[in-house]
Amino acid sequence: SLRLPRPTRRRVLTVANQKGGVGKTTTTVNLAAGLALHGLKVLVIDLDPQGNASTALGVDHRSGTPSVYEVLIGELSLGEAAAVSTQTPNLLCVPATIDLAGAEIELVSMVARESRLKEALTSEALDQLNPDYVFIDCPPSLGLLTVNAMVAAQEVLIPIQCEYYALEGLSQLLRNIELVQSHLNPVLNVSTILLTMYDGRTKLADQVTSEVRGHFGDLVLRTVIPRSVKVSEAPGYGQTVLTYDPGSRGAMSYLDAARELAERGAQEEMS
Ligand code: ADP
Ligand code: MG
Repeated sequence: SLRLPRPTRRRVLTVANQKGGVGKTTTTVNLAAGLALHGLKVLVIDLDPQGNASTALGVDHRSGTPSVYEVLIGELSLGEAAAVSTQTPNLLCVPATIDLAGAEIELVSMVARESRLKEALTSEALDQLNPDYVFIDCPPSLGLLTVNAMVAAQEVLIPIQCEYYALEGLSQLLRNIELVQSHLNPVLNVSTILLTMYDGRTKLADQVTSEVRGHFGDLVLRTVIPRSVKVSEAPGYGQTVLTYDPGSRGAMSYLDAARELAERGAQEEMS
């Protein structure tokens, strides 16, 4: 299969949207698998106590498993908590266990509470794992876990569901990103918007698509992810749709999106 361009610098992307069910986790694991299956090394950090990204990547996340929780409280290094996905050996995942549910509150009283993840993502820890891409899958809130993800990243990727109220809450998300930019992480930028769960049979989906494109222009990937049963079935088999049904429309569109992401990253560095 065709290899995807390797970025000259490691890219760290936070996948965020405080709305639940918009496709954050699905986007994280499928883009990660798309890049990894095409020759790049990828690390996924599951920052949602639900552990859905861990599940989809076939990584154990029962309570007691070394996880991102121990990384945040400083008990384990990133490398100690990273497990190899069953998807492909190029794909690593730091899983989330239910222990993370209490972290949002525990973090409040910790020093540098907004920078715990960034401190764990030292160049030393990352050089050891050596990923080309790091994806951080956020929980559906704008709490301390999401702030940690934004402080640790360079880029924010926002999945937007092609549905009613798609743009609702986005201004709040963008305001939070600006706050993190001005106080905690000046390099943070919204680099990518991905339209998800597109249903071509509805007029509404096209309205949302053009509204989002009109608003965000080139930040929006050309590829749109269709609503597809295969995409939603795959996690039940501990897989992404890319291995569950590689020929499906869902798989091909996530692969197209991964290619676009990789090619854009390569272009940006040349310009
Ligand atoms: P979030 O992480 O934002 O809460 P998820 O990625 O978990 O959202 O997606 C929410 C639900 O929608 C999940 O059940 C998922 O399997 C399903 N889903 C996501 N993307 C698609 C798609 N393109 N087609 C069909 N179902 C999808
Ligand atoms: Mg999720």
